[in-house]
Amino acid sequence: MIGGGIAGAAACVALSWAGLADGTAWFAPDQPFEDRVGESLPSTAGPILDRLGLSDLVTTGHRPANATFTAWGREALVERNAIVQLRGPGWVLDRPRFEKDLRARAQTVVQRRRETVLTATAEDSVWTITTEYAPPLRARTLVDATGRAAAFVRKFATLRRDDRMAVAYAFPLHRDRTVDPTPATLIEAVADGWWYAALLPDQRLSLAYFSDPDLIPRGLSGDLAMWRDLVSGSPNVSQWIEDAGFTLEDAPSVGSAGTTWIDPPVGMCHGAAWMAIGDAAATFDPLSSHGMTTALWSGARVVDALTPWLANAEPDALTDYANAVSAGVLKFRTDRAQLYGRERRFTGLPFWDRRSQNFNLP
Ligand SMILES: Cc1cc2nc3c(=O)[nH]c(=O)nc-3n(C[C@H](O)[C@H](O)[C@H](O)COP(=O)(O)OP(=O)(O)OC[C@H]3O[C@@H](n4cnc5c(N)ncnc54)[C@H](O)[C@@H]3O)c2cc1C
Repeated sequence: MIGGGIAGAAACVALSWAGLADGTAWFAPDQPFEDRVGESLPSTAGPILDRLGLSDLVTTGHRPANATFTAWGREALVERNAIVQLRGPGWVLDRPRFEKDLRARAQTVVQRRRETVLTATAEDSVWTITTEYAPPLRARTLVDATGRAAAFVRKFATLRRDDRMAVAYAFPLHRDRTVDPTPATLIEAVADGWWYAALLPDQRLSLAYFSDPDLIPRGLSGDLAMWRDLVSGSPNVSQWIEDAGFTLEDAPSVGSAGTTWIDPPVGMCHGAAWMAIGDAAATFDPLSSHGMTTALWSGARVVDALTPWLANAEPDALTDYANAVSAGVLKFRTDRAQLYGRERRFTGLPFWDRRSQNFNLP
């Protein structure tokens, strides 16, 4: 198992429930658990957390995601309250805390090796894994949970891409103690992209702007004045920031947020099986909030896919996993095309035209 994010840690927990912990080598280098945009965990993650015995990880320190307001297809905000959702509310996570707790849980059941993996090569049905410090390790299967890098499976499969969406994000502080900020999430479409703002459990705001790299103002990362100017162009988000007394004190960081997937997400190399999970298998437009749920789901699926293979080299379960990922990616792309299609105010502008025409759905 290579990778210590949500997918890798969830897979270790699943493997331990299946009695496979002793045979698992988990490579997960130390990393700081810092702010990371992306804290909306939908209620669909609940049954997966239950199955993994991890439900307690979301009971304290996180916030129920009761209210979401959207300005999509119209300027006025529309509220979607979790009270009308069959599954109830999801969560706005304290993301560093969730990832830290999940990793801590995983390392109580599978020994964590702190090395970064350098190479993985297969010969005669066996993988040889090398790291900087330890002697090479031999394994029958390789699970790539290295996130967007998909560092190892990229050599064996094709990386497919729908778009090159980028994100600029920062975490404004709540300074005005005379106002209680609304515990809500707000999504707002604008001419060149869309905004996401969520009140975090510690009363800061997670603020992110999604657009295409050629549409994001040059030099935005590191330029607070430019960031403030950009925020002021979002009617509802800027209003919330002002009314609730948040201050923009840091220039944003900029990163990737495009939709990509590895085709196929599982396979054989010289008789040795490999499998991609989490972002290494597929990354989704964050509008969907699919990423962490997929990381948990695919981590749990490692057991179903690998147990028959390890027991008697039975490949059908690997194929089932590949089919499930492909079906999930197709459903996501279809739903997303419909969602972007609902915003018609900006027809003719590149961000929206690219999304209405270029998804190349079969
Ligand atoms: C802007 C943005 C907003 C998002 N918002 C949301 C949201 O609101 N809700 C949601 O559910 N999802 C969201 N996501 C997606 C979510 O963050 C990811 O899907 C999720 O973190 C994937 O987890 P992972 O474990 O697959 O990958 P990662 O968290 O990237 O973990 C990969 C791990 O692999 C390790 N690694 C890499 N290379 C090696 C190596 N050679 N050797 C050993 N270890 C290695 C890394 O150190 C890291 O620990 C968002 C994503 C983005 C970009």
